[in-house]
This record gives sequence, structure tokens and C-alpha cells, in this order.
Amino acid sequence: MIAVVGSLNLDLVAPVPHHPVPGETVLGGDMAQHPGGKGANQAVAAARAGGEVAFVGRVGDDDAAAVMLEAARGQGVETTHIRRTPGTPTGRALIAVSPAGENTIIVSPGANARLTADDCEAAGDLLRGAAVTILQQEVPDEANHAAARLAGGTVLYNPAPAVEGAQPPPHVDLLVPNRTELAALTGASAVPETLEEVTAAAGELTGAGAVVVTLGGDGVLLVEGTASLHIPAFPVRPVDTTAAGDSFCGALAVALAEGRALADAARWACAAAAISTTRAGAQPSLAGRDEVEALLAG
Ligand code: ADP
Repeated sequence: MIAVVGSLNLDLVAPVPHHPVPGETVLGGDMAQHPGGKGANQAVAAARAGGEVAFVGRVGDDDAAAVMLEAARGQGVETTHIRRTPGTPTGRALIAVSPAGENTIIVSPGANARLTADDCEAAGDLLRGAAVTILQQEVPDEANHAAARLAGGTVLYNPAPAVEGAQPPPHVDLLVPNRTELAALTGASAVPETLEEVTAAAGELTGAGAVVVTLGGDGVLLVEGTASLHIPAFPVRPVDTTAAGDSFCGALAVALAEGRALADAARWACAAAAISTTRAGAQPSLAGRDEVEALLAG
């Protein structure tokens, strides 16, 4: 079993001719809504990649709650530990997209911000029994700390979105940042670009057993103690890299839960993430297990 502790957001996406400046009203195109949030995306990524997945999180008591729960269940994600929060809205992301494809995003965490250590304690049996527990930074630290402490298997911590000064909880086995998140973790003023810079920055992170830095089209860099390994990205034609990191984390958890060694698991997850970049959107773009196997088989 893979446990995902994290956020569920309903993404509300509107095309705009240009982004509004303060005080301005812009007339946009038709609004679309999609299930999103890093936690929910990673759970769906793991389920599509063939994992058995259960979620620990919070939704509100509004219509969006039903949309999010149905979307998760529709993908086979177990939702018993998703609590409804009376008097609170479900998390939402308001996303405006310009004709150039540039996004501005407002995340209103709503119920996600109410996830507590007690919620994780209540899911203690799940967390103790899970082969892998995945955490991100869209729910309160106290929930992540409790989940990491309770987890019986491998704890995968994705420090996203980047939060200046944020610290992963103790008991993390695997840190999975992208370059920007790595800079936030080390407190560096510049984002590490070259493999040498990324290796040096990842080497500064002590506490986690291993660090897997995702490098977009450059693949991933694994750093374990003084050893490092670069795994190139699969050559694909990306059309939309939204949720590539979520796809990677979900698939990595599946491969680790199946007992693969870290380097092998990371390569498997690179294949899943590469596929997700060839399709538009977040959850609709996530790779199915057969597709991953097909890409790996060449
Ligand atoms: P995030 O979405 O968190 O910023 P990245 O952009 O680093 O994460 O992407 C995560 C993973 O997705 C990468 O490590 C890589 O395996 C895959 N990926 C991202 N962009 C591409 C690309 N252009 N071509 C192939 N694979 C990609």
C-alpha cells in the first residue's frame, strides 16, 4: 500500500487575454475545472502506475468536496481517511492562463490547511502498514511531522511548492526536490543549474537517506552519501510539463513499493514523468502502467 498525505484542490482555470494588474478587471474565456492539488495528483499518478493507494487529507463541506472525492475514487484511490471539514471550503486553485501560456495561480488552501497531527494519528494503521508514504508541502507541517513519525515504510518527502526556510520533518528516507525546491531547502540565493552545482547543493542536505533531484528535461540526479548518479530524461516531445514532478513522485513510490532499487525505481519514474509531459493538463496527463512499460521496453 502507498499512503499519500496531502492536499486536494479543485483547479479553476480561465483563459485571459492578459493578466490583470491591481484594480483591473479582465474578461476571460470559459472556466474549466479539474481535480488537482499536489497530494491528489501524486495519489492519482501512483494509482495509474499500478499502485494500491490510500489518501489522508481534508476537504470542506461544499460541492467541490464531492468533486474531489469522486475524482479520487474514480481512479481507485482509497478515501476513507479524507475528512470533511464543516464550515470550511475545499481547497481551490484559481489559475489564469494568458495566450502565451503563462499562468498566474492563487491557491486557497481551505480545508487542506486544517489537516492536523490527529488526522494522521487516526490513520495510524494505514501509515504504519504502508510500504511508502508520500508527503508534500501543501498541508501544515504538524501533519507532515506526525505522518513521517508514524510511517512504517519508506518516507518520500517532496518539498513542493518551494517554501523559503522550510525544513523537512525528521524520519524522511527520500527527499525529492526540483532545482528551485533544492535552493529553498539549502537557503541558496541562486538556483543550482549544472550537475556539479546540483550535486554540491544536494550534498548539503543531511538527514534524509537519499536525495533525488528532478531536473526537468535533464532527468534526475540521485545523491546518496558521497555517491551520485545522473539519469537522463527520456527523449519525448513535451507539450505541457504541468504535474511532471507529481507524476515522478507517484511513480517512484510505486516502483519502490514493488521492491525496486532506488536507481531502477528512479528510471521507471522518469519514464512515467516523460509520458505525462506529452499530454495537456495535470491528472489527465498521468501515465498508465502499460505506457510506462512500453516506453521502457523501447
Ligand atoms: P517539477 O514539475 O516538480 O518542476 P521537473 O520539471 O523536474 O519537476 O520534472 C520531473 C520529471 O519529469 C523530470 O525529472 C523528468 O524525468 C520528467 N520531465 C520533465 N520535463 C521533461 C522533458 N522535457 N522531457 C522528458 N522528461 C521530462
